[in-house]
Order: sequence, then structure tokens, then C-alpha cells
Amino acid sequence: MIRKTISALTALMMLLTVLGAAAETAPEVDYTTGTPWLFVDLDGNVTEETDANLKDNFALGVNKAIVLKLEYKGGIPAAGIIEDIALQARADKARMFREGTPDSHDAKLAFDLYGLLTDWDSRNASGIAPLKEQTDEIERISSIEDLNRYFTEVPYEEQLAPDTLWSCGNESSMTDQSVKELFVSGTALLLEDSAEYTAETPVGRTLWEAKTGLARRMLVKLGYTEAEADAKIEACLSLEAMIAPSLPTEEDQGLPDFFEKINNHFTRDELAEACGQLPVIPWFEKTLGYPEQDSYNVYYPENLSKLAGLYTEENLELIKSYLIVHGVIGQAAFLDRECYEWEYLCSHANMGLTIIPKDADVFAEYIEMQLPWALERLYADTYLHAEDKERLTVLAKQMIAAWHQIIEEADFLSDETKAKAIEKLESIDLRILYPDDWTPYSYSKVNFRSAADGGTLYEAVRAIRKYNMMKKTESFSAKPEKGKWSLKPSSINCNYSSSDNSVFIGGGFARGEMYNSGMTDEEIMGKIGFFVAHEISHAFDRSGADTDKDGNRVQWWKDEELAVFSEKNQRLADYFSAIHPWEGISWNGETKTGEACADMGAMKCLLLMAKEKEDFDYDLFFRSFAGAFVRKVKLEPVYADFQNVHPLNYLRINTTLQQYDEFLDFYGIKESDGMYLDPEDRVNIW
Ligand SMILES: [Zn+2]
Repeated sequence: MIRKTISALTALMMLLTVLGAAAETAPEVDYTTGTPWLFVDLDGNVTEETDANLKDNFALGVNKAIVLKLEYKGGIPAAGIIEDIALQARADKARMFREGTPDSHDAKLAFDLYGLLTDWDSRNASGIAPLKEQTDEIERISSIEDLNRYFTEVPYEEQLAPDTLWSCGNESSMTDQSVKELFVSGTALLLEDSAEYTAETPVGRTLWEAKTGLARRMLVKLGYTEAEADAKIEACLSLEAMIAPSLPTEEDQGLPDFFEKINNHFTRDELAEACGQLPVIPWFEKTLGYPEQDSYNVYYPENLSKLAGLYTEENLELIKSYLIVHGVIGQAAFLDRECYEWEYLCSHANMGLTIIPKDADVFAEYIEMQLPWALERLYADTYLHAEDKERLTVLAKQMIAAWHQIIEEADFLSDETKAKAIEKLESIDLRILYPDDWTPYSYSKVNFRSAADGGTLYEAVRAIRKYNMMKKTESFSAKPEKGKWSLKPSSINCNYSSSDNSVFIGGGFARGEMYNSGMTDEEIMGKIGFFVAHEISHAFDRSGADTDKDGNRVQWWKDEELAVFSEKNQRLADYFSAIHPWEGISWNGETKTGEACADMGAMKCLLLMAKEKEDFDYDLFFRSFAGAFVRKVKLEPVYADFQNVHPLNYLRINTTLQQYDEFLDFYGIKESDGMYLDPEDRVNIW
């Protein structure tokens, strides 16, 4: 998954992914000092008195009235269209279980799992006992040899915290998608971003408090004294602190050279040597069931070497503590009511949530985590329609036609490269709303006992974990499943995947104010259409340009063309580095270039389409576009947004529009206006 291009909407998906924290900001900060524009999205920056002129700040001028009316809902510290449709998706999914009845094997599994989740009598009766068996097993380990035996002899699904100290899997080779290879990924960290271990941010502080708090409660419930629990947590964190510098930071992962850096091939002998006593190869072969290979991709060689160096008798207690702490955090959600509630608050602490929602409101999300495609099928059958899929597919094809023109007119590309670009464009696999064929997503081989038959949630989760592992291993020897979706139809999300040259538009995203069948062409192009065009444009951003029509990472541009492209990207990076949401806050503009390139490419594509339409209502189009990004957000979560690869919402509106004469001319924007950008200073790559 690490190779998937991060989606257009990750930044907007704050409902589910926001990382916020109690910011320790000095009271004298003036948040209205943003340059070149006021940070419109920040709560409190826009009031009735704020002077709003669309020629100076389009995001503000157009959205002011809406921003003033936005209300926070569902305890989420942000409000806007995305938050609204995310809440709608949550309600829609909950309704399926309240009102629906299962009519297939997979639907029955989903309903049975729902029954097990809500079977509090049985969950509370088992209490923490199922977890205790697992932690006791770790406690009994008295040597590295013992630990290696644990990793290779205890079945995968019964291990306490598999895939944490290191993780492994298979994927298509970056340079040849038709070839599968095994990879070794890095160590999981409680604070997630390795940068947190050297310079803590408010985001890291929140994670630290939430996770150590949960671990402590769980450990005490397991029978450890408070002092023992604290010592375990400290041991886990001290091991992580030693390992963290060997892992890329989140910022590193957003930089253009990241994909090159995670392509490191080791022979079997080299891998064995790098691992020392660390049982990565036996884990592949004995635990996961993969065949021996001649070559392995090690994402982070420095991490593997560091971990192997620490994997000694001397550090055995640290390693056991690491596994126990990660294990108790990972399993808490499937135990009794008390553990479930602790875990819920921990995993939502970053959103500032402090209340436990009603079971019926959130249990569909747990089913989504365990049996995603069973839930997806139910969702698509219930809420998504063939005529919408058809309309958006037609629109996407028109965008591809407009991109033809963009490529033809790109004066920095040779005819030969243009031909390859067009070939890539024509090969884009459009995955709109839901798949046509559901066969590859079936759970026909999954079986567990329902609550009525005496089954337990813990047992069901293990059965699913075992199935997922086996399916993944089997996929290594099977032919690549071309065209298989990895993203879920109900996602409030869109994506371009460079590894299979596919564009995905989530069915859950095409809802509410983002898309409804009553919208005009201008509204559709400004709202969901912009995101469709954005994803197509990713095929030709700095990351998309590195992969060919089949998703292979091969250079298909001439060196001199890449040099011009890279210079264009640098200008775009410098432009973003010069923007400040308020005085004193800055970011590395280089992290924003992929998304900004796609935003600007999308707008160009839509403006080309608009030219072909009679009586096109530009005002409605530009306002709809700005409306798609309307947002109000509290101060705490925005700190995480600064590092995000997506520009902030108000910037996605303003920076995108000011590149184009069609926009500037339509509103009569002149040099003295805040939205003006001299043609020489424009940074749109395409
Ligand atoms: Zn994007």
C-alpha cells in the first residue's frame, strides 16, 4: 500500500484521519496575518466584519457567508462538505444493519459479525481472558531462541502483535508490474511519525497520551501493578526511540525521491546476513507460507540493520515489552465493554472526541475494518446507482479527451514523449463508484460461528485475520489480478494509483453536496468533476511521470524534458514555500507539488472542456469549485495539515485559480487585486 499515490482527499478526510492536538500556542499569536491571503478555513478568522472581496481572496469572497453558517457536528473539530458526507456515510451504513436482512453468504458474515460485536453479555463474560493467554505466552519467552520459536511456530493469527516489529508482504515490482516480489517494511511506532522521537509536536503529544494511557489501563487490567505497567511502556518507548532515527519521517515520505529510496533489492544471502538473529526469512516461509526467493525488496535497509542490531538477548525484555504494549493496544477493541470504550477514546483522541457513540452508529465501521468487501457490496447495492456511474464515466472520458489537448500543446515534450503520454492517458483504468464484477471480492472461504451458534468476537476476528493472511500469501503465486480495486466504494475518497494507472472515485464521495443527480454540468464540473480531473492529472505529476502506462517505474521521458519538468516543479515548490497561513508558520513547498500540480492540471482540463460548451456559466462553475473546499476548522487539527501533501483548502481554491486567464478575465481581476498573478510568475506545470 505504501506505493499508492496518496489520494486527493486525504487532506479533506479529517473526520477519519485528522491528527490534532492541544496546541501550546502563545496567546499573542495573530492568526489573521496570513500571506498572501487570510487563512480563511481557520475558525475565528472570518467574522461578519471581515472584508470579503472575491478579487482579493476568492475563497473568502465566495465562501464567507457559508463559512459563517458552518456548524461542527458529531464532535468533529472541522466542518464542511467532506465532513457532512462522511457523517452521511456513517448513518447510511448504520441503517443497513438496522433495516436490512442478509441475502448472501457475505452479507450473512457481515450481519453475524455485527451480532458478535453487539453481544456484550458474551464479550463481558470473557473479559480480558483471551488477551491474557496471549500476553502470558510472551512473558514465558526467556531467550531469543524462544522468541524466534514463537514467531515461527505460533500461527500468525494467534500471535499477539504480528506485523509490528517488522512487517512483510508481497507486491508487484515497481519496475515491472507483472512480476511479484516479497518486501520487508519497517517497525511500527506508537507515535507513528519517526520525527516525533526527536522533536515532539502537539500531534505526537496527543498520540503519546492516548496510547500510553490505553496501554496502562489494559496492562493493569491484565494484572500488572501500575509500576510494572509503566515500566513496560517505558521499555517499549525506549526501544522505539532507538529505532526511530532509522525510519523515514512523514515529511521524508512526501518528498519526490521517496519511491527511489524504498527500492532496495537484497539477495536471500544478503537478507539473511542483514537480519542476524531476526527471523525475517523464517517468518516469510514458515509463518506466512511464502516460497524461497532469490531477491527481496527491503524498504528501509537502515531500519532493518538497526533492528537486527538490537535483536539480542540483552534487549529481550525491551522487545517483549514492545510486543505486549503494541498487542494490548491492538486487541483492546475486540474485548469487553471497558476495553472497547478505552480503545475507542484512544483511537479517536486525535479528533478530540471524548464521548462514545451509540453502538449502532459505529459498529458498521468495525465490520468495514474486518470484512470490508462484504460491507461494500451491501452499501453499493443499497445506495449507489448505475445512472450516476454512467454519467461520471462519460464525464471522465471527456476529461481524458481534454488532457489529450494539454499533452499535445506541452511545448517542452517531444513528439515521441507526447505519444507515450497519450498512450498512458488512454490506458487509465477508470474505477468509478463501484466495481462491475464483485467476484474477486468474495469471502466464500471465510467462516466463523455466529453469536447464536456460540461463537465469540475474538474467534471471528482470528478467523478473518487468518483468511486475510492466507489470501495475501496465495496472491503471490497467482497471476496479478489486473483491475482489482483496492479502494472501497463507500470511501469518501478519490485516488490515482500510479502502480496500476487507475483513477478511483469513491461512491461514498459522490453524495450530498459533492454530487447529486440534479446538478447542472457547471456544478458537477466544479464539485466532484474537479476531483475526477485532479486524479487523472496525477498521471502526469512528478510521481505519475515516473511510471508508464502499465504502472512500471521506468523513465519514458527524455533527460532534457525531465530537466524542464523538474525546474517547473521547483518553481511550484518555491511558490508554495513563500505562502504562510499566519506569520511564523511555514512548510517545505516541495511536499505540496504533486497535489498542487494535479489541482492546477485539473482546472486547466476543466477550462478546456468549458470552452466546448455553449453558454457555459463560468460564475457558477468557479463558485461551485470554491464551494467544494468550503471549510471551517479548529486550531488544533490544522498543525497536522501543514505537513500534509495537500495544500490547505483555501489555498487549493486560490492558488489553482490564479494561474488562469479564464478566471482572472472573467472577474476582471487586475494587478492591484490580491488574486492577480503575473503571467511570468505562474507555476502551473501543464
Ligand atoms: Zn491528489
